[in-house]
This record gives sequence, C-alpha cells and structure tokens, in this order.
Amino acid sequence: MKVGVEKLLERVHSSSGSLITANSRRLRTLRNDADALAQCRSDVEKDIKKYGHVSIETKAMCVDNYADTAEVQMSVCGACGIRDPFDAYGRTAKEPEASRHEVNLADIATDHWLEVGKDAYARLKACPDIQMLRPDSTGGYESLRIPRTDLHSLVEIGARTYHVVPEALLGGQKVRLCKRCSRGWNTNLKAKRTVSSVGATTDEFEDMYAINAPAFSIARGADFGRLSALRSKGIQVDCSTLERLLLAEARCHHIVYKVVAYGEETDRKRLHGHSIVCPHKAVDIDHNGFGKAALEAAYASVRILFVGPNGMRSKLEQAALLIDDLRLRPDVIFNLLSINHVLHNGPPVPDIDEIVQLIKEHSLALHIEHNASSMIDTAVEKATTPSDVAHVRSHAAQYSNDFDDPEAHKVAEGQALPPSLVPIGLFELEPQQMDALLKGIEALVIEGAGGNADDNPRVDPAIPEATTRDIILQREDRICSDYNDAPDVLYKAWGPLMPLRRGFVKGKSIPDGKWRQVFLYFDNRFAHDHTLLFHAANMLMRHAVNRAVSAKVMTRPEAFEKFKEILHDGDFLDKLDAARNDPKGPAAREVVSRVIGFINLSGSSVPWGSRERAGEMAKLIADHRYAGPSSMFISVAPDDVHNATAIRMGTPYTGEGTFPALVPPEFLAALRGQKPSERTASAADGSITYAMDETSLQLFAAKNPVACAITFNHLIANVNTNLLGLSNERLKDTLFAERDSGFQS
Ligand SMILES: [Zn+2]
Repeated sequence: MKVGVEKLLERVHSSSGSLITANSRRLRTLRNDADALAQCRSDVEKDIKKYGHVSIETKAMCVDNYADTAEVQMSVCGACGIRDPFDAYGRTAKEPEASRHEVNLADIATDHWLEVGKDAYARLKACPDIQMLRPDSTGGYESLRIPRTDLHSLVEIGARTYHVVPEALLGGQKVRLCKRCSRGWNTNLKAKRTVSSVGATTDEFEDMYAINAPAFSIARGADFGRLSALRSKGIQVDCSTLERLLLAEARCHHIVYKVVAYGEETDRKRLHGHSIVCPHKAVDIDHNGFGKAALEAAYASVRILFVGPNGMRSKLEQAALLIDDLRLRPDVIFNLLSINHVLHNGPPVPDIDEIVQLIKEHSLALHIEHNASSMIDTAVEKATTPSDVAHVRSHAAQYSNDFDDPEAHKVAEGQALPPSLVPIGLFELEPQQMDALLKGIEALVIEGAGGNADDNPRVDPAIPEATTRDIILQREDRICSDYNDAPDVLYKAWGPLMPLRRGFVKGKSIPDGKWRQVFLYFDNRFAHDHTLLFHAANMLMRHAVNRAVSAKVMTRPEAFEKFKEILHDGDFLDKLDAARNDPKGPAAREVVSRVIGFINLSGSSVPWGSRERAGEMAKLIADHRYAGPSSMFISVAPDDVHNATAIRMGTPYTGEGTFPALVPPEFLAALRGQKPSERTASAADGSITYAMDETSLQLFAAKNPVACAITFNHLIANVNTNLLGLSNERLKDTLFAERDSGFQS
C-alpha cells in the first residue's frame, strides 16, 4: 500500500507530542483576533482531551505505585550477598507477601548446590584453628583461637550446612534470592563438584563448592569471606588504609591526606580536609610479609599535607594523628599476617612484641615530623572551595557549627578531634591507545566490519617513568595488567577485605555485573573503601576507552573506493601487521595516516568523556527533528543527604530484626527533627544511636557515594517509571492501568 507523504507526516505528528505543541503555540499569536483565538482554544481543548487526559484513578495509581516503590524493602540475597534496591527478590507489588523466591532451606534436596560439599567441609573442620589477638581491657592483647569455618560464609542448621550469608537468614531457616541467583531455581538441582584438592600445597577446598551454582554465588566459590564472626568475638576487622598498604602484595595508588585550618576553621574543634586517592598501575612488591621495608613502602604511598597559616602546625598535626585511615594497630597486623600464613602460604608471623616495637620505631608521629609538608599560603585552598563541585559536602560541613556536632561537645578545650576528610579520586581519562586503534582498523580491513577492541587487553607498557618529583611512585619489575590479572591485583592490594582470596574468577577480567555485587555487598565493606572505589572507577574508565574504539568507513562513495584500493594493496596488510607488533613505531603512524582520511574512529561511546558530551548534542537534535520541539521541561532535584534509603543503604546490613532492615520510629524522628537537639536519638545509656545532625549527615553522604548513587538512581527511575510513565526498560507502551509498580517487566 502506498502511503502519501502527507499521511505519513500526519502519522509521525500524531504519534508524538508535536501536534499539541503546534496548536498551543498558535495561542500566543492570536491575542488580537478574538474569533481565531476562540477557535484555537477549542482546538487546544480537544487536543488536551485527546492527548493529555489522565483520569483521577490513574493518577492515584501512579502516585500509589511511586510510594510503594519508594519504600525500599531491604533484602539481601542469601546465596550471593547482594543488597540491591532495584531487585524485588521475588516480591511483586500486587502481592507483597508472595514469596516466589523465598527459599526454605529445609525443603531443598540433599546435596543441592546450596549445600556445602560434605567431604571438603569435614576437612575444613579438621584444620587447626588460627591464632588471633584482640585488645583486652588493660591495653594489652588477649589471644584466642578461631576455627577456620568462622572465615567462611556458611550457615549450619541441624546436621546440614549451607552456602548462605548468615545475616540474610529469615526466621532462622529461610532466605530470599536475587534475580540472578533465582534464575532457573529448582529445589532438586544436585551440586556438581570438582575433584577434591587434597594433596596440593594448600587445600583450596574447591570441592566444597558447586560448578553448576549461579555465577557470583557463594556456592559457586565466590565467597568474599565472613568478617562478622570475627567481629562478634571482639577482633578488629576494620582494617585502615595504612594497615592495608603495609600488608599489600601489590600497591596501586598513592594517597594524599590534606588537613586544612584557616580563618574561622582555626577556631573550630573539628578541622576538615581531603583524602586524595591517585590510582596507578598495580605493582607487585619484592619484600615479603611484615618488616621495615614493608613499613617504609606503606609510608611511601602516603603523603600528608597541612594547609594553614603559620603557628597552626601543632594543631594540624594533632588532628592528623587521629585520622582513622592512618592507624597502625599491632593486633590487626598480627591477625592479617596469621590469616595470610595459614590460608595463603604467607611468611611466618612475627611475635606481637616485635610488631609493637617496629611500629614504635616507625610511628605515624615520626613520619609526620620528617615527611609531612606544610602549605602556609591558603589562597589556593580558599579560592577553590566554593567553585569546586567535589567540595559541595565539605563546604556544607565547613559552615556548620560545632554545636551541631555531637562529638565536639564531649572533648575538652585543647583536645583534638579527628578531621573530617572528604575523599577525592584523582585521575585523568586516558586517550585511546595506539594498539587499540590499530585493532579497530585491522578488524575493519580484515573482517570488513566495524572493529572493536574489547577483547584485546592492552599490553601494559614496560616500566613507565615516575613522572612526579614529589610523589615517589613505587614501580617494580612486574606490573599487573588490570584485565586478566584484575582479580589477582584485588587480592594482593585489598586482601583484608577478602580473607579467603575468593570472590572473583582468577585470570578473567571482571564483568560489570560483578562490580555491582561487590559494591552492593550487604556489609558495605567494599563500598566503604574509597581506594577500591577509585581504583575500580579508573579501571572501568580506561577499559571503556579501549572498548569504544571502533572504526567505520565513512558513508561517502569516494571513501568506499579508497577503502577498496587499500584492501588490494598487498603492502598495506604487511604494514598493519608490523604496526600491530610495534604500536609506537613508524609503521603504526603510517597505517593510521593512510586510513584516517576515509574512516571514522568513534569515541562518543566512551562514558564521562568530552566526545560523549558532544555526541549527546547530536542525539538531542535528532530527537527534536523526530518528535518536534519539546513542550515540557521536567526538573527533579532529589536529596540524597537527608534520604532515609540512602542512609539505610550506607549502613551495613546485620540481620532482619535490626536497622537498616527495620526502620525504627526514633530514626525517622531524628531525621525529621527541626532543632539540632531533636536530630540525635540516644539509647538508654546515653550513647548516640542515630546522629542525624547536619554535619554528620553531610559527612555520611560524602563517605557513602555508592549508597547515594544507587538511591539517586532508584529515585529518578521511580519518578520516570511510575510518576511520568516513561521507562528505559519498558519497550512497549502498556496502559497505565495495566502496569506494575517497581522496575520489573
Ligand atoms: Zn544472589
């Protein structure tokens, strides 16, 4: 059937909002012509009835769905530990009690994948205990024996043992499963185990896990290890950044701690500052275990900078000594060395007295005295404060008063408080690398399709020069690649967060879904580690740059002609080969210069880059051409700082019966309090349970970027899906009345 152009145009217009815009725009021009205006008004009225009528029932339903979705039910997947507000964990809004994926552990078949392999578990239980230390009341240390099973995420119920996060248990024997883990759920699916690893140098207990369990689940072997059992026995598991750097087998960032005092700041009890993380390539280190070399290397990765006028140094130093990130606790070091020795063939653990002595000889105070730098001129610091987006929170915290800070009341005059440090990541987006570019060209020439360099991990260049004079970069012979070696780097640099050195697939690059699990892990151990956050962000940005290289022949006929010419030029393929082998050599430059005139190298799919921003403009113009000028501007300004969901997501999940799973009325009362005195909730013994004052909330938000981002994302998705009826996920437009709330299709 032939459709006339006019008919086609009418269809285009009636399927968009442009018709209503066209009529309503006439209104303004007809002010002086009463008859035409009346006609136009009636046209617009008809348009409104036709295109813009939403019944009161539908409106109520939209708001109801929005409210339902906004009230986040905090669930943790029993099989993998993810706490994802976007996942309904089998619940649907219409039947809130429906529990499709609430699994009763007693109901699953014997030797189900969710069960722990019996032989391996028996071997694990037979292993000798690990000796660990905890601080006692006299300032010394108390020794205690920790069974190996305490480090694993598992639950024993009666005679059966399950690969389940203990915190995620509901009513003692049920768990919910996330979307990923519940896919294809079957209570009778038996575990497929690998052969036992008995006889190897270290028993990895591989046969405890099941190779047919869902990817990322504990049962599959992705067990980040349990810290809560140790914590409940009084062992300190909140490893500081300096402690982690000290024990790391690979270091991949430098951190600058900057403490600031000037002007009004000087009189305040709590100073502010920044911890600036500068990620660099992971570098394996040659010294082994704990010792002077390790201590010196750890300090070399940390720089301390004081900003303040003359005469302020002692106050700044006092504050810096209290920075949590710079603690070196002998018992924490001893315990981590013990785990490394017993589980991962680490070097023998020195005596605790030896550790105490060594730390005394290389104390933070001495390091500050010899190495900290001072900046007396505060002009730069002052100039950047109000304009820098990243300072928003510290800026707010800076102008809040001490009386707003519950801790400030408690310290005596002259006594210091730890400074409030706002974390900042410092890295630049790398340009596309020559070899990724060549790979794109090669794919185009050889396969004829647009090339993509994602499967082409960039070979790390030989040892790069240390570029900054002031910061000494630790560069050694073996630089770990962050594609296939990425899990290895994480275990080496962030070992204390993953005591079992499990959780990632060895020798494989880390998929995006895995990062989601990591940063939404129920106890926030990863989300609260800023160095890891910045490392991951930097890595993903660099990978995106390489992934986005794609070459396409331009759509001009001359370009295709040129391209054909190249293909029949035997010399070119040899040159391309040579270029691949030496991406920095003259052959590479020649190849690129020969093709650059007639192919497009795309960069607009690199996120966070200037090319992406430029690409957005083209998209907007295309939308405008397709749908006509927009007639509505919707603006939403979500608040993450005072958002109950953000605060709950930023708080480690400890079980179904406590905050943040439950929302007690005193928490909401403190959050909604009008006066400073109303904004803290206290327990019977006077200790503060919820500090919801402005300073605490601003700092909490600054320290919980993951919780804020996920809450933001959730809120915007909720507004779009339920209030406006637009959704990226829904591909066809079902009637409002037939939609579910939430984000499941
Ligand atoms: Zn799961």
